[in-house]
Amino acid sequence: MTAAPDFIGRLPVLILGGTSEASILQRRLADDARFSVTLSLAGRTSAPAKSAVSTRVGGFGGPQGLVAWMTEHRIALVCDATHPFAARISRNAATACEQAGVPLLAIRRPAWQPLEGDAWTDVEDMTAAAAALGATPRRVVLTIGRQELAAFATAPQHAYLARTIEPVGDIVSLPSLVVTSARGPFALQDEIAFLEDARAEVLVTKNSGGEATYAKIAAARMLGLPVIMVRRPHVPDVPSVPDAEQALRWLNGASPSLRAQRSSPE
Ligand code: NAP
Repeated sequence: MTAAPDFIGRLPVLILGGTSEASILQRRLADDARFSVTLSLAGRTSAPAKSAVSTRVGGFGGPQGLVAWMTEHRIALVCDATHPFAARISRNAATACEQAGVPLLAIRRPAWQPLEGDAWTDVEDMTAAAAALGATPRRVVLTIGRQELAAFATAPQHAYLARTIEPVGDIVSLPSLVVTSARGPFALQDEIAFLEDARAEVLVTKNSGGEATYAKIAAARMLGLPVIMVRRPHVPDVPSVPDAEQALRWLNGASPSLRAQRSSPE
């Protein structure tokens, strides 16, 4: 669905979404008469949760496409509430907002930090994660999404169980790969049962941060399971807040000056 521009005194705000923070933000702004919000989703999930605001789905066509879309919809502010591993859209947002002179606020949720009892091996990316599994065959649980499963083709000696939100299809062929589809959040007891049932010897995951998917990390700690933790990709250094609540506070504070900018002659 394409968002209808709403110029009747409302500030058009674009939320780049796909996260729980974006969901909270759009729900909280939906009935706020100061803003006219469009939520943008990449379209990776076949049945995204229903949103309370205008929603558009699919890429913009790089930074230039995003500039064009923002101009057409007279966007006054962009909130990058994408996932910490969605680095390309975050880079595009930074480039496009700079070019278009539109303020950008990013929600950057803090990374998880190891606690006592955690046995993490931090790695740079998925290729390094596959290498870190070692030569000896192991039973590996992957909670990394589906887009990067192919990286484990370099380590075909292991038996993999991948948990993904969407079915994987035939994008990856590993000699021993079982895929199970499930959507979080997951409770701690369920994660313990999941890892035990899988007879996991190691868990590979991304350092996504946040609470919704943390239970598997706590479960691994309780089971004494080693974790290969993929570090976050680099994202541009833009004004940021750690959560949706603080983004709302920022929007409330910025709204009068953005409004004044809009009403002054160009
Ligand atoms: P990405 O690699 O940064 O983005 C790839 C391309 O997808 C972008 O260049 C953009 O296409 C399009 N895109 C991404 N997010 C978009 C959005 N919110 N609205 C419109 N277009 C978007 O991102 P990704 O890793 O594929 O993730 C896609 C989406 O899934 C993101 O919205 C992210 O928040 C969510 N997500 C990602 C992860 C993850 O681990 N990567 C996990 C959970 C949720 P154009 O260049 O054509 O504009």
